[in-house]
Amino acid sequence: MNNAIEDIWPEFLAIAREEVGSRAVETWFCAMSFVRWDAQAKVAYLSAPNTFVRDWVAARYTPLLERSLARLLHEEKIGLYFTQPHEPGKNIIVSEIKEIEQPLSVVPAVRVPMKPPRTRRDQQAHALYRFDNFVVGSHNSLAYAAAQAVADRLGTLYNPFFIYGNSGLGKTHLLHAIGNEVRTRHADCTILYQSANRFVSDFINAIRFDKVYQFELQYRNIDLLLIDDIQFISNKEQTQEFFFHIFNVLHQAHKQIICTSDSLPRDIAGLADRVRSRLESGLVADISEPSFETKVAIIKRKAEQQGSMVSDEVAEYIASLETTNVRDLEGALIRVFAYASLTKQEPTLEVAQQALIRRTEPKKKVAVTLPAIVQKVAARFSLSVDQLKSKARTKDIAHARHVALFLMKKLTNHSLREIGTFLRRRDHTTVIHALEKIEQLRGEDAACDRLLKGIEEDLSA
Ligand code: ADP
Ligand code: MG
Repeated sequence: MNNAIEDIWPEFLAIAREEVGSRAVETWFCAMSFVRWDAQAKVAYLSAPNTFVRDWVAARYTPLLERSLARLLHEEKIGLYFTQPHEPGKNIIVSEIKEIEQPLSVVPAVRVPMKPPRTRRDQQAHALYRFDNFVVGSHNSLAYAAAQAVADRLGTLYNPFFIYGNSGLGKTHLLHAIGNEVRTRHADCTILYQSANRFVSDFINAIRFDKVYQFELQYRNIDLLLIDDIQFISNKEQTQEFFFHIFNVLHQAHKQIICTSDSLPRDIAGLADRVRSRLESGLVADISEPSFETKVAIIKRKAEQQGSMVSDEVAEYIASLETTNVRDLEGALIRVFAYASLTKQEPTLEVAQQALIRRTEPKKKVAVTLPAIVQKVAARFSLSVDQLKSKARTKDIAHARHVALFLMKKLTNHSLREIGTFLRRRDHTTVIHALEKIEQLRGEDAACDRLLKGIEEDLSA
């Protein structure tokens, strides 16, 4: 049966979704179209909205396009031509494209009125993250003092200011505390808070829709740039180039830049050297793990903030839980309050233990080991453990590996690095990538979610 030509592209999108994930498909392929098929020359003509998309797709996805379109067109082998709707004379042959390292060109597209930056909503959402409710202990005192000093002397003292530490230790809190402080003191100050993930996707969209100029404008006229989790720009070369550019513009104008990250600039894999050295050029402060006493103080402060009180006993019990992640401690506290209120009891130590026991008993992180997870996942996908640890990147193996990495992170307390090393991945960003991928997939695909839950249940049985 022959495919109707107009069906080719939707069918290709479906295949691509399987092979490279919906994110890549939405970002790149949905912006393109299948123009025509020259059956005699056996050449498929594709069009991209701009040269950036074209070059990116050509450099990275040519084999996928050739293979899948050939299959859909029932041909052994096909050629590809990329046409550009805006520059009709300039068709290019894919095989002529070398590695693309074109500098970012800021194309003044049609000027449209700019949307106000998303600061307001973001800041309101985090109005609770202030200096006055940030508990200071020896683990975060440098970062805290520096954050206050930076808020005091914007752009002149430590620029950039770089805060790093593990997840749940208060980086985002501190970042917003600076933003909120500056906002109260200088109402006229333009502040932009942005997670690096968002920065990456906004940038990609700006390129797709030829809005780089507007995007850049948004960043050019701000006084305080707060970028959360900057590690997420790793391996995103074009975004890094743009970030580097914005960084320089702001820095030269003595505008303050503050970034947070889960590791030191030098430990972020896939970061261009010049970006790394910029990030290191100001003050780098770490937040480490809180001591037991600080955990107790934080729990009490969080309880007060919710208008409740916890006894010392209960606060100490929660602080003694196997975690230094403050977000987890907060979660435990909330569970205690919820349980007490549902069962109409006071939050006593016994009640707290009951509230938390159910959670700690069946499959608390430490109970499941890395080898157990890998074995279970391998069995579920009919693969061997060695295959999961191998360099093989076929679709099935890569997917199973991602599932294993995801479950290892979810069910154990091991660090990203330890998890990566266990599957012989040198670079912990591989793990981050896997987590993102599975997290996304499971949101979109009920079967994947069921599979994950099934494996989890098996492991805790
Ligand atoms: P990170 O960005 O480092 O992953 P967050 O800033 O999101 O961590 O912190 C997680 C939670 O823990 C937040 O609700 C935050 O308010 C709280 N938290 C962390 N450290 C402290 C602290 N020192 N004092 C008060 N709350 C804290
Ligand atoms: Mg954070």
